[in-house]
Formats: sequence, C-alpha cells, structure tokens
Amino acid sequence: MFKKSKKIYEDAKKYIPGGVNSPVRAFKSVDLDPIFIEKGKGSKIYDVDGNSYIDYICSWGPLILGHSDEEVLDGIDHILKNGTSFGVPTEIEVKMAKLIVESYPSVDMVRMVNSGTEATMSALRLARAYTKRNKILKFEGCYHGHSDSLLVKSGSGAITFNVPTSPGVPDYVVKDTIVCKYNDLESVEKAFNEYGDDIACIIVEPVAGNMGVVPPIEGFLEGLRDITSRYDSLLIFDEVITGFRLSYGGAQQEFGIDPDITCFGKIIGGGLPVGAYGGKKHIMSNISPLGDVYQAGTLSGNPLAMNMGYNLITKLKDNRNIYKELEKKAIKLENGLNDIIDNLNIDCHVNRIKGMICLFFGKGPFTNYDDVKECDTEKYSIFFKKMIEEGILLPPSQFEGWFITYAHSDEDIEITIEAANKALKNTYNIK
Ligand SMILES: *Cc1c(COP(=O)(O)O)cnc(C)c1O
Repeated sequence: MFKKSKKIYEDAKKYIPGGVNSPVRAFKSVDLDPIFIEKGKGSKIYDVDGNSYIDYICSWGPLILGHSDEEVLDGIDHILKNGTSFGVPTEIEVKMAKLIVESYPSVDMVRMVNSGTEATMSALRLARAYTKRNKILKFEGCYHGHSDSLLVKSGSGAITFNVPTSPGVPDYVVKDTIVCKYNDLESVEKAFNEYGDDIACIIVEPVAGNMGVVPPIEGFLEGLRDITSRYDSLLIFDEVITGFRLSYGGAQQEFGIDPDITCFGKIIGGGLPVGAYGGKKHIMSNISPLGDVYQAGTLSGNPLAMNMGYNLITKLKDNRNIYKELEKKAIKLENGLNDIIDNLNIDCHVNRIKGMICLFFGKGPFTNYDDVKECDTEKYSIFFKKMIEEGILLPPSQFEGWFITYAHSDEDIEITIEAANKALKNTYNIK
C-alpha cells in the first residue's frame, strides 16, 4: 500500500533529520512511516502510491476551502510570471492589511511575517517593549510555535518552576515564562498576585487547537481580559488556527473579547507560508520603522502568499454561509461519532465547537492539558491505522484537531462515520 512512500522515506532519512521538515509528519506517535503526497483536490489527498484519502489534516488549518480551490488559485499564474518577490512594497500587501483590519475591530494595524511562530515571537517582543516588563504568561497545552520562550511547560506544582520542553532552550528564557492551567482562572489570579507588575502579557489560544480541541469554559476569556486590564498587562490572542475559522471574525468575534494583539497564520496564507500580528494603533506604532521595536523579514508580505491569502479571505468574506456549512458538517460528524460511542459503549469523547472537532480516547470531560494527556494514545494509534486503511487520513496524533473544510461533502462525512464505526470496533475488539 505504501511502497513508493517507503522508498522515498528511506532517502529522506538520509538527508533530512527524521526524513521530515516538521516532526508531526513523521507519524511517529501512531507508529507508522510517513506517507508522501502527490496532490490534493477538494477534500481528497493522493499519495505517491496512488492511494486516496478523505483528508482531515488539510495542511493543519490553512485549507478551509479544501485543496486547490479554483477561486483561491485565481490570478496566481499571473503573479508567477511577473515576479514572486521584490523586497520593495507591492499593493497587494496594503489590500491584505486593509482586509484584515476591516475584518477584526481589535486590529488597527497589522504586520505580515512568514509563519505563526514569527507572529507570536514578534507579538511577545512588542508586548514586552510596550509594557517595559519581561515576564509572559502562557497555558499548558497551548502551542504558539517554536520560539524559545514559548517552549515551556510547568514543572511539578509551583508556577515558579518551569521546564523547557526542548533542549537548547536556556533556563534564563524559561525563568520569565509563567505557565498556567488552561480554563483555570484561579491559577492566573495566583500568578498575577505574585508577579502581576512584571507580566507583560498573557498569550492564549482562545480555543485550544493543539491539545485536540478544547474550547474555553464560560468566563475564562472574559477573566483573562479583566485581569490583564487590571494589571496593565496585554492580552494576546493567538488566532493562528481560529482566525477566519471559528467564524469570519475569529474567536474574538465569537466570544466578544477585545484583545490587545492578535496573531494570525495558516488560513491567511491560503496554503503558502504566512503569519501576521496586529493590534491597537498605540501598540503597533512601536514597531520599526515607526517605532524602535525591531522586526523584519526578507520575504514578508510575499506577493504570491498575499494573493493566495487575499483570494481566500475575500471568498470567506463574501460567503459567510461557509461557516454555517462547516458547523453543520462538524455536527453531523459529532453526532455520528457519538452514536457509535453510545452503541459500542466505549470510553471515547467528542469535543466540538463550531467547525472544530476532535475525538478523544478517554471518558472526558476534556477542559485542559491534564485531562487530555490521560488519553489512551495507544488506542488512538490503532484507530488511526485502521482509518488510513479505510481511506481516511486523520491527524497522526491524539493531540491535534481534525480539520474539516468546506469541500468535505455530506457523503465524505458519512463515509468517515462508517469507517470510524469499523475502526472503533477493531480498536476495542468488539465484534
Ligand atoms: C500552527 C500554530 C502556530 C505556529 O505557526 P507556524 O506557521 O507553524 O509557525 C502558532 N500558534 C498556533 C495556535 C498554531 O496552531
């Protein structure tokens, strides 16, 4: 089934660490070798061996309309012919910025970068410069890219003893990152009681999408807004996944919260490498060359990426029913999975909010990382393998959301539910 993929992988391992350019692609946590992809169209992805799958990875979020959407690709040939990078400004960068600013009332100005990692890293620098404070607060289980000060988890017990999640991250960096529990305002209050006057910002995924899907409980985001305001600290929403996905206006529109800085990525590049951070004018005007907070990028605002992103966001803007449709599809999948779970009487649990969904191998409820890490990842791995045999490509890890796109048809969802029924029976040895 994976003959060609295996062959390419053998070569890949010689020249690329682990054979992949981002760890999750190695399929390690589901105990498989990676599959190599040839092409994607709509909800389907095709590997080099000619296998096709209904895709729930979808590039981890950017492809909200599915693979190779004609309207998103519109005009790209023209850009390719006219030059793909200049290092001097182009008009599409301005149109893109205007579109984001008009879509997000909390954003007066926006700066484009090349990845979500760059967006959050730059947002932190800005928050620290603006507040003239060093400490930042993040939540366990939230992922904000791989910059040093964010690769931190809480040590046992006290909030003061944090540990880097990767070698190579210096202790002095970790010292200024406070890690709290998601959906637990009390832990945040405690941190602010102790360090409030030194905390530059809270950075949070308003809906956590990197520990499966974990929505905020009622009052959590409001509480973060309140506490940051009280301490003159900034609230950064990392909407790299939720921006233009949860709803057109992101989680901030959905929950009616007004963050100081917002980070974007994924969808705004339509499948090309992009990130962005934006916020209030009095904060953003500290960025160079307007202010003296330095941040730059050779390929930032790249015309190819800007055009793809602009096409995609414009289509979303003009077709808001897409969000209702996405939610309908997610509900259909949720109901289907819940029926199976009831029927088979197994300890699985579906978390869903709007079009974001994931299946946990545990009883639940799942409201923070402590809950999520109790999941039976071995069972997920068996399930994943069975699903791939059935032609369904899920994220190769229990701790990721499933990405449904507008291109996923009702039939795709029905096939997925059918496959999940077989795969779950197999996973739990039920006849
Ligand atoms: C993917 C992701 C990032 C990092 O974006 P990259 O483009 O991979 O650097 C940051 N924050 C969140 C919430 C993400 O999901």
